[in-house]
Amino acid sequence: MLGAIIGDIVGSRWEFNPTNDYNFKLFSDKNSYTDDTICTVAVADALLHDSDDFGAYIHKWCRKYPHPMGGYGGSFVKWIMSDNPQPYGSYGNGSAMRVSPIGWWLSYDIWETSAKSAACTHNHEEGIRGAQAVVWAMADAKELRNTYGNKLTSEILLKKGLAHGVGIYEEFPQNFKINLNKCRNRFDVTCQGTVPVALWIVLHSKSFEDAIRQAVSLGADADTLGAIVGSIAERLWGIPEWMKKKALSYLPRDIKNVVKEFHKRTIRLRQLSKRCQYYVFDDFVHLSDEDKEACDIEREWTHYLARSYAHAKLIKEEMTKRFPIADWQNVADDYDLPVSLVGTIAKHILTPKHKSLKSVIKFLEAHYSIRKPLTAKKKEKKEKFLTLNRI
Ligand SMILES: [Mg+2]
Repeated sequence: MLGAIIGDIVGSRWEFNPTNDYNFKLFSDKNSYTDDTICTVAVADALLHDSDDFGAYIHKWCRKYPHPMGGYGGSFVKWIMSDNPQPYGSYGNGSAMRVSPIGWWLSYDIWETSAKSAACTHNHEEGIRGAQAVVWAMADAKELRNTYGNKLTSEILLKKGLAHGVGIYEEFPQNFKINLNKCRNRFDVTCQGTVPVALWIVLHSKSFEDAIRQAVSLGADADTLGAIVGSIAERLWGIPEWMKKKALSYLPRDIKNVVKEFHKRTIRLRQLSKRCQYYVFDDFVHLSDEDKEACDIEREWTHYLARSYAHAKLIKEEMTKRFPIADWQNVADDYDLPVSLVGTIAKHILTPKHKSLKSVIKFLEAHYSIRKPLTAKKKEKKEKFLTLNRI
């Protein structure tokens, strides 16, 4: 989400004073956060509060910051001022510029969640598609980043593409083509006029900074195009540390707090659930009914963890009532699974009659064979390491 905020801040100066100079100064005292940052932070704040009532959070944050640089769009102002705000059929790019936190959050329903984040105001089909295209492109970017890491190059990016994101606009992503010259200096605030351009720019970028520079110097809706490009480019290239620090220095304390808290939470969530990620974009649809049972339990586990870490603590408390935590941990280690996931599985299959973890182990053997248990060699190495550390 910081990618969106940086794109917004960097582009803010050029929203009503467009530039085509690629080498423009990124940060100056004429830059500020705008509506794109406020709405992005509102979406993140909703997720942090276990809520998908995005409208309520966007309403609250926009009322708190009624006059950001560049202001808000006309219909959106009416929505903010209303005490009973209703969606107004918008297909403006506002739904796409605020959606990036959902692309970082652990969710199996990014399709639905991103639609929800749009629909509280932008309930036009194009408004919803715009938000969905951004989170799907972020998912594509994440895949590329996971596969190639720092070895990712612009050549690989162009070859592999952002198939899911682009696929929302083009049935055959290989046919996707945008003529940037036709978009130059054209102030288009629609989703369908902005998001495909953003995708094209990201596809032809060499780094985060390059993507932002291309977006802003197009002379279009600079801050919002910057925010959308920044959302996806962050997932793809990462952001240089100096740029993160610089951007944070423009933000008021309460906005900064949400950004920091969101960052911390997503890291923790990823660590806890890295084994679950397998199902998100891979073989989920090909699973047998039996394996789907295991997958459903994982979904339940991640669902609760995504909502509150207090749940992991509760699960562990329940587990220790049955067996010592060390026993659970051994089983979890054998299958390289988080212990709270093993506890969630046990909740489904252990009855009060069970006097051991045998049936849990049987379940793990049946459903997690694809995840290789630690080999004897690895175990030995681990024990040796522990012994050495004890000394
Ligand atoms: Mg703006």
